[in-house]
Amino acid sequence: MSVNIYVNSPNVRYTDTHIESKYTYQTTSVKKEGNTVTVTPCTTEMTFRTEKHVPRLGVMLVGWGGNNGSTVTAAVLANKMGLTWKTKTGEKKPNYYGSFLQASTVCLGSSFEGEVNVPFRDLLPMVHPDDIVFDGWDISAMDLGKAMERAQVLDWALQEQLRPQMSRMKPRPSIHIPEFIAANQESRADNFLTGTLAEQVEHIRDDIRDFRQSSGVEKVIVLWTANTERFCDVIPGINDSAKNLLAAIQAGAEVSPSTLFAVASILEGCAYINGSPQNTFVPGAIELAEQRGVFIGGDDFKSGQTKIKSVLVDFLVSAGIKPTSIVSYNHLGNNDGKNLSAPQQFRSKEISKSNVVDDMVQSNPILYKPGEKPDHCVVIKYVPYVGDSKRAMDEYTSEIMMGGINTISLHNTCEDSLLASPIILDLVILTELCQRVTVQPQGEDCLSFHSVLALLSFLCKAPLVPSGTPVVNAFYRQRACIENFMRCACLGLPPQNHMLLEHKLQ
Ligand code: NAD
Repeated sequence: MSVNIYVNSPNVRYTDTHIESKYTYQTTSVKKEGNTVTVTPCTTEMTFRTEKHVPRLGVMLVGWGGNNGSTVTAAVLANKMGLTWKTKTGEKKPNYYGSFLQASTVCLGSSFEGEVNVPFRDLLPMVHPDDIVFDGWDISAMDLGKAMERAQVLDWALQEQLRPQMSRMKPRPSIHIPEFIAANQESRADNFLTGTLAEQVEHIRDDIRDFRQSSGVEKVIVLWTANTERFCDVIPGINDSAKNLLAAIQAGAEVSPSTLFAVASILEGCAYINGSPQNTFVPGAIELAEQRGVFIGGDDFKSGQTKIKSVLVDFLVSAGIKPTSIVSYNHLGNNDGKNLSAPQQFRSKEISKSNVVDDMVQSNPILYKPGEKPDHCVVIKYVPYVGDSKRAMDEYTSEIMMGGINTISLHNTCEDSLLASPIILDLVILTELCQRVTVQPQGEDCLSFHSVLALLSFLCKAPLVPSGTPVVNAFYRQRACIENFMRCACLGLPPQNHMLLEHKLQ
């Protein structure tokens, strides 16, 4: 089901090539003196232009042969081919559940028949996941047919139908620096480049060009869904500026594989997204992206436990309840869990998961004194038997009225890669859309989004934002940001105000 949306407004113009919207951006300027807060409404007139041509999109995955890489590729193929398969509970059909663009809706208003909700993906011209062409790299040479079997995520009857096509896909040799990932990964590393760092980066750039040419795609986005690396030190003279980072690569200094991929993508003008927690985006990589006007986004897919956290803590704090302790246990048995069983790689994940409630806590000075935070503990254990079916157990303890205590315990079981795959699709499709949007504040030059694409925060555990700008983790604020960007800025519609005054007055 797909719908055509036409906005009937003097502020919106449809040309052959663009949707043009005149938008009044309303904000406030706030001044606090003692106990007095003075709020002044401000408005800025802007014109948003969205290019209508949807390009043929190529996505190159680093870690293509992993659970996420093989699952997202297989899921798109199954959707595209319209496959069905039988399980003991009946016939199954492919879908894109878990993708907010493909499987969630936006309310445009009411007609005589009631509320009109349309698929998010139909708000603006966007790439359809079925049309994405995949390619990528892996340090394991296994073809995607075998990799899908190794992942143990999809039903066997589906795998059998997909295998002929999946087996023809083979990951390209990657950049492998063993000390960045757990030692227990060594046995799968049989497909990697040799030569100096500079030569390897050149090779990756050649791969991107080769894919673009051989597949005929118009645009390429590169996304890291390879193993979690350990953090790397930010060292003055090595990775603190774009110039130093490029020189460090030439000199063969310590640079992580994920940063080398980021540099190669940026130099090829391709957006680069980091789905893992490590600090790929050292200051030099961010500066390089800014200099070249290329989008970067991350970090770490927000798929399960953290997503719930960003809903639950938002609910508690905004209801005036004070979370005081959040304890999260996970156990999982896939290769990601095996890699995370090593202390340095676990530490990357722990850091990524640690700040997710900060903005919600800081928003409520009635509950929390300055600097006060709930206790927050994250444990991850590797239990091979459960495979990709991750278990997450959380305990939220909160203070309620008059010294009372409220404890909420959750148990969540789910195939991790089936949560991450739709997020991968949303990340690349949203990034591609942002590449087609320009903004012109009245009387000023045309702008595009900042290279650090903060709009992707909704899909990331540890959102990367431009230096000095606020990080938002709260789930519904993040979702509203994307919805309002599309409905208000790009389509000239009012934001959802939820007042329903037409039903509340007499
Ligand atoms: P996985 O271990 O199954 O896949 C990772 C793949 O990366 C493997 O095939 C491995 O061989 C390959 N690899 C390792 N180093 C590489 C390199 N330098 N170049 C190319 N390939 C390399 O893991 P997964 O379950 O697919 O998860 C992938 C990443 O996504 C992990 O870092 C994980 O922490 C992150 N992540 C996953 C989820 C989720 O829900 N699945 C959520 C958030 C983050």
